[in-house]
This record gives sequence, structure tokens and C-alpha cells, in this order.
Amino acid sequence: MTPLVDRFDRHVTYARLSVTDRCDFRCVYCMSEDMTFLPRAQVLTLEEIHAVARAFTVLGVTKLRLTGGEPLVRRNILWLVRETARLPGLKELVLTTNGSQLERLAGPLRDAGVKRINVSLDSLDAARFRNLTRVGDLHRVLRGIEAAREAGFDRLKLNSVILKHRNEDEILDLVDFVVERGMDISFIEEMPLGLVDEHDRALAYYSSDEVRRDIETRYRLIPTTETTGGPSRYFQVADTGSRVGFISPHSHNFCESCNRVRVTVQGRLLLCLGQEHSVDLRHVLRAHPGDDARLRQAIVDSMAIKPKGHDFDLSRKVVITRHMSVTGG
Ligand code: SAM
Ligand code: SF4
Repeated sequence: MTPLVDRFDRHVTYARLSVTDRCDFRCVYCMSEDMTFLPRAQVLTLEEIHAVARAFTVLGVTKLRLTGGEPLVRRNILWLVRETARLPGLKELVLTTNGSQLERLAGPLRDAGVKRINVSLDSLDAARFRNLTRVGDLHRVLRGIEAAREAGFDRLKLNSVILKHRNEDEILDLVDFVVERGMDISFIEEMPLGLVDEHDRALAYYSSDEVRRDIETRYRLIPTTETTGGPSRYFQVADTGSRVGFISPHSHNFCESCNRVRVTVQGRLLLCLGQEHSVDLRHVLRAHPGDDARLRQAIVDSMAIKPKGHDFDLSRKVVITRHMSVTGG
């Protein structure tokens, strides 16, 4: 039984750890064009991140996701992956990446113990991909996905953020892409995290129900009972080995079953993606180096402030000012 139980009797068994706020892309919904990244002293060292991962697993967390920023641009990331994968009690170590470094790192990541990978891909058109990521090279990412398929991960999944008038006409192409390769895909509604001035989020909103309607013009979707305790709902694509997920923070509330927390690369333990309730683990790590019991106690105590739910509202002018790259998507 996990000691991580909050006031609403939700059991926390899943933690997402951001390993860097830096990235080699500048996706329009995630970052501004001229991002200022954190000074090194504010960023947890790999050893500190590992201490946090260890504390969570001792406290009953069975699934860890490494994310960012782009996790694969952090130097020596393979050391962290290897050491984390070995932690007793951990059932699943997974990673979310933009795929730019996968051609080189897919095999080593698999060998180091990563079970599953999510690759973010919003367009199969090179010019559009460049436009959405501002700098990304589609062909490099596609080569990365091939390398990941060859490396033999348990499952490979694409994550696609759908924006109206930008890529909503590619939904079927993206589903075809995963079906042909036996992969899965999750479609994500854009969340109001960080100020982005490139587009109006309310105007770009394309709901999961619209995405589903588009897919059902070609494919039959069979609902599954599978849940990861988050905002995703999953469907089997009939007569294929693929699944489609919908991550719908706006149109479907998921907070009652929330089983997760996040740690930013500054060591801020965030109890909810859409709220600011947090605990400063970096302070605990640096004021009491090596004191794992104190670190665990800080995590256990944080359960008292896990909020009931998020409060996303696209019409509000005030948004959570943390960018997704800092929070860890
Ligand atoms: N760089 C990696 C990547 O792109 O996969 C990992 C970090 S990224 C922040 C994690 C996921 O968050 C990506 O799938 C990205 O598309 C998604 N994301 C970023 N900003 C978002 C936003 N404002 N709303 C919804 N999803 C967002
Ligand atoms: Fe980088 Fe991922 Fe954010 Fe795109 S979504 S800018 S790849 S962190």
C-alpha cells in the first residue's frame, strides 16, 4: 500500500520528472521563440533527480516518466536512465521525446531499461512540421521513429497536439501512419500553459470530440476500459493492432482519478498540472544532502495540498505562466 494518498483518497503511483527545461525545438504551443532557459545552478543535478526518483519508488510509485523540455538533450541522460531503471519497485520507466535524437539514442535507451517511448509528432508535412516546431526537421524525427521501432520497445506511441487551421486536416494521415506501423497515437487538446503569443489558443481549439468524429469517417473505434489515471481515454482501432487516445483536459474532466504528480527541473514538486500548489524539493535536497528520509517525508507531506482539480479555461486572460517545457509534459 502506498503512503502517498491525498485528502480525496487518490493514490499517487506515477511521477513525471522533468530532466531539463531546454529543447532543440520551439513548438508554437509550448514555447515562445526566444525562450530564456534556467541558469545551471537552479537546475537539479542528475544525482539529485535520481534521489527524487528513488524516494518516489520507496514510497510506492511504480511508474516514472522522464520528460522536459527535451530529455534527450540533457548531457549524460543515459546514466540517469540506467540508474533509475534499476530502482527496486519500479515497474515502468517511460520517456517522452520530440524524436530529434532518437536515431542515435533509441538502442541505448532500450538497453538502459526504457520500456516505452512517446514521440511527439504533429505533422507529416516537412514544411508544416517546421512551422509548428519553428526549427524541427521532420525527416530526422521519422528516422528516429524507425530507429525506435528497430530497438524493440514494448509500445511506441505518437503524441499529436491538434490546432484548428494548422494540422486538423492531418488527423487521418497520422492515424494511417500509426496503423501501418502497429503503433498507438494520442491526440492532445492544447492546454493554456505558459504565455504564447504566436496564436490565440481559444481560436486554435479543436476538441477531442471533433478529432474522434474525423477519425470515425475512416476507422471504427472501440472503447476500452484501459486507464492510466490521467486525462486520456483509449480506443482500439477495429481490425488493427493500434490504439487511439484522447487527452482532453478541456472537454473531459479527469481529476477524480488523478494518480500523478510532477517534478520540475528546479525540483518543484507540482501536485496538479493546472494549479500552482507545490513543494520545493530542491531546498530539501540541498539543505540536507543525502538525507533520503527527509526527502521522502517532504513528499508524503505534500499529499495534504494536492488540489481537487485543475481549472483550465481558454477564455481567461490569466493563465498558468509556467511553460509546459518547465512543468514536464
Ligand atoms: N520535448 C518532448 C516532447 O515534445 O515530446 C517532451 C516534453 S513536451 C512538453 C511533452 C508533450 O507536451 C508533447 O507531446 C507536447 O506536444 C505537449 N505539449 C507541450 N505544450 C503543450 C500545451 N500547451 N498543450 C498541450 N500539450 C502540450
Ligand atoms: Fe520542445 Fe517538446 Fe516543447 Fe516542442 S513540445 S518545444 S519538443 S519541449
